[in-house]
Amino acid sequence: MKIIMEPKVIAGAYIRPFLSSLQLQRLGAIALSSAIFVIDTASSIHIAIAVLYVAVILISVNIVSKKGVIRVSFCCIGLTLIAFLGGHGLNFHDGSFARFLVSLSAIGITSFLALKNKAVSDELQEQVRLLAQTHDAIIVRDMDHIITKWSPGAEKLYGWSRSQAVGQDFRTLLCPQLMTSWDQMMTCLLETGHWEGEVVERCRDGACVTVISRCSLSRGDDNVPKAILATHNDISDRKRAIEALQRSEAFLTGAQWLSQTGSIGLIIPSGEMYWSEEARRIFEFSADEQPMLTSVMNRTHPDDVDLVKMSIKDAFQKQPHIKTEYRLLMDDGRVKYVQMLAQLILDGEDDCEYVGALMDVTDAKMSEEALHRSEAQLAHVSRVATLGELAASIAHEVNQPLSAVTTNGTAGLRWLNREVPDLAEVRGAIERMVSETNRASEVIRRIRAMARKTAPQNVPLNIIEVIDESLALVDRELKRNKVVLDLSYDSDAAKVDGDRVQLQQVIINLLMNGMQAMTNAKTKKRTLCLSLQYSEIDEVLVDIKDSGPGITSDQMPNLFEAFFTTKSEGMGMGLSICRSIIEAHGGRIWATSEKGLGATFHLALPLSKKEHV
Ligand code: ADP
Repeated sequence: MKIIMEPKVIAGAYIRPFLSSLQLQRLGAIALSSAIFVIDTASSIHIAIAVLYVAVILISVNIVSKKGVIRVSFCCIGLTLIAFLGGHGLNFHDGSFARFLVSLSAIGITSFLALKNKAVSDELQEQVRLLAQTHDAIIVRDMDHIITKWSPGAEKLYGWSRSQAVGQDFRTLLCPQLMTSWDQMMTCLLETGHWEGEVVERCRDGACVTVISRCSLSRGDDNVPKAILATHNDISDRKRAIEALQRSEAFLTGAQWLSQTGSIGLIIPSGEMYWSEEARRIFEFSADEQPMLTSVMNRTHPDDVDLVKMSIKDAFQKQPHIKTEYRLLMDDGRVKYVQMLAQLILDGEDDCEYVGALMDVTDAKMSEEALHRSEAQLAHVSRVATLGELAASIAHEVNQPLSAVTTNGTAGLRWLNREVPDLAEVRGAIERMVSETNRASEVIRRIRAMARKTAPQNVPLNIIEVIDESLALVDRELKRNKVVLDLSYDSDAAKVDGDRVQLQQVIINLLMNGMQAMTNAKTKKRTLCLSLQYSEIDEVLVDIKDSGPGITSDQMPNLFEAFFTTKSEGMGMGLSICRSIIEAHGGRIWATSEKGLGATFHLALPLSKKEHV
């Protein structure tokens, strides 16, 4: 059987018991008390034998607790009383009673002193235990720096045992490197009696530890310095953590500078703010300025003040996330674009705290705008090219009403030149002339709108109107190529936000592509189906399906890439421009094709948000 010996608590002190010795002491105490009792009861010697119980009490002090000592004392008193009554009965008149009293007094006084002594020694033991348990190294050295005391904490920290360290020169053993000079430290110690500082010391295994050393000077009765008592507290881990923190702060500052992203913190409702260096740089606040919400408002571009106020309102309403993009107006008139994303991190009863990232997106915004400008230019060039392709049909479209005007004009003149002018007929001819002229100018208006170079608009548009106007421009061309148009609209009031001309350009492009695919493949039954319906996620879906040869699977991945074309005179820009226009409208464009069943181009555009505002 395995016996596990555990530390036993005696009077609050942890003592690792040597079981056999303890047992021996106990047995000894029991044997001694039994012997005293037997002698006291049986012997006729006229001396106070019971006094010897003090020995039992003194032994018990070392092996039992305070309560145990009290119990042993009462036992001894009890045994003394039994022995007295057994030997002498209730005879209180001879000397035995006096001896009995002497024995009781001896037992009582010894017990009292033993208990008092035990309390003191227990406390001392506790202090020793605490001192032994402290992590700090306690080192005492004399004025020649020879180590005289070396605590268990020092053994643990430096690796040298007490016997190895005591007697050694402190400076040789630990090679202390001070932040100040050794002389300065000693001067301070001698003048003030204290010194405290950071010291790097060498351990037994050669490793270095950084400690906070607190030294006090101990003087003798003659006031002459006798020893230096030092407590050394290992701060290596803390030091390493601080260094790691400083490093990561430097990394973060570098990363913030590179990515032009700063961090900010905001406490609501006080409006108190925390700013990283990069955030200050973006806002161009000076290092000594303590930015508040008011300073942020002062920097905000006047046109975006309402936007920022809305975000602040969100913060006061404790929204979990706040995202905003707005402009700053610098003192010298420069404009900066910033994006801010903040998250609620502390939600107290009276206040809350946000932390967020602030990014200077001015450069990206400028490039984005330049890109938009080039895209718009490219789209314009492509529109003009499409108009070129439609030139013959358009000329015909304009020519027709002009011919009608001429015919009606000639007829009108004839009616007028009669002997009795037929004014009713003349009126009819003039009315037809006006209507035909309107038809011609409507065609020209549409062409001019398509050819005009204007900045893209973002207004609510009825998509059916957009489709109808596109059809009006290609109608003649479709008829010329014998294409039958099949329209099916799910609704006539679908509104989207965007640019009328750009969306027309997309629809014309898709219609022309479908038509060209069918004519190039000499498809006999040429049909273009245009359908419009709503999706479940607040989108308008426009499908344009032809009955041409369709799109092969190897063409499919490149369809929307710039310069991809299978036509001998194609530029391969049409679909690529369509995609950028649709994506700029927040929509999607994709194609599907089944062998022998033609190609279908799908457009998905979000329903107008402005319409509902
Ligand atoms: P382009 O018309 O100048 O070739 P697009 O970008 O408009 O440029 O079209 C790219 C290519 O996509 C076309 O050359 C053609 O191969 C294919 N394509 C476009 N629409 C259709 C369609 N409806 N059916 C079959 N192929 C098509």
